[in-house]
Amino acid sequence: MLDWIFSLLSHDLGIDLGTANTLVWVRGKGIMIREPSVVARHKKTKEIVAIGREAKRMLGKTPTTIEALRPLKDGVIADFDATAAMLKFYIQLVHEQPKNPMLPKIPRPKVVVGIPSGVTEVERRAVQEAAIMAGAREAYLIEEPMAAAIGSGLPIQDSSGNFICDIGGGTSEIAVLSLGGIVVNRSIRVAGDEMDEAIVSFIRLKYSLLIGEPTAEEVKIAVGSAYPTDKADRHTVVRGRDIETGLPRSVRVGEGEIREALAPVVHQIVEGISETIEETPPELVGDIVEHGIVLAGGGSILRGIDKFIATELKMPVWVTDDPQTAVVRGCGKLLDDEALLAKVKVAARKV
Ligand code: ADP
Ligand code: MG
Repeated sequence: MLDWIFSLLSHDLGIDLGTANTLVWVRGKGIMIREPSVVARHKKTKEIVAIGREAKRMLGKTPTTIEALRPLKDGVIADFDATAAMLKFYIQLVHEQPKNPMLPKIPRPKVVVGIPSGVTEVERRAVQEAAIMAGAREAYLIEEPMAAAIGSGLPIQDSSGNFICDIGGGTSEIAVLSLGGIVVNRSIRVAGDEMDEAIVSFIRLKYSLLIGEPTAEEVKIAVGSAYPTDKADRHTVVRGRDIETGLPRSVRVGEGEIREALAPVVHQIVEGISETIEETPPELVGDIVEHGIVLAGGGSILRGIDKFIATELKMPVWVTDDPQTAVVRGCGKLLDDEALLAKVKVAARKV
């Protein structure tokens, strides 16, 4: 009874706690928050200065007293306090919408959080604790590849094998799912961030120009590709600092050379996928060869990455619809499906 009253007063949430981006799904409303997973705080006092977009703008530019960090950068929780602060901030932000002033102000939502599969048992408990501390009444954790598959509408409860590869910022989560469970799972620290790093070193070596990772990310989005596209003459101008003179300088870079720079990273992702296939029980490999590999995550938006993987592995490859929101949409679906949630959760806590 009390639970029912609480659920009327608060919004149940699905949260994708990604290495690069945090998304929040509000039951009955859809995606309400989409912000970078970045926290800026005072170095000494640890006081939070900014969270999300504003904090991302500070990356690489902070004065000595402030640090901007990505608490989940490598798919593990590098900084618990910052992760907890971020969760709390978003849970409360969603509840700040104007409400009936007659109602008491107690957000007690049910929360389903998608976490990278590399997160340890101890860290999982820490995330749940953080969600409860932020006011959640029930906190469920689900692994991101599972959430991405559910968000993509894959038949994960069937006995056939489903293959998903979620290429995020810090990690690529590769998994084979069947009968509502994860059969094989691999989390590799090669994804969008590594692509940015590859562009930084390529520009430094070829043009003696220093650029930061945010600039490299812009280049990747503007002209990046994994496979030659029909518009192979895309170019962009990159501004940086000349290594020799220390002065600002610009160069024009093209799609072809950036593809070359990205090739080793894309190859490592293909390697991760093929190693996962090697570990897959033979009974399921047939299904995968037939149904193909589904890509999700922001990294799967890289032009031609599906075509490249398909060519290398000689298998069908698809990018799911709206790949960057697949995980949070999966978490949102689970808010409405108790039975499935009970089956796929990796941890649960109620207060
Ligand atoms: P996570 O789940 O780890 O938070 P996301 O799924 O949000 O990560 O993906 C973030 C990554 O996707 C970043 O590395 C970002 O640069 C990359 N990305 C976003 N848009 C594009 C694009 N158009 N082309 C290539 N990469 C992209
Ligand atoms: Mg993700």
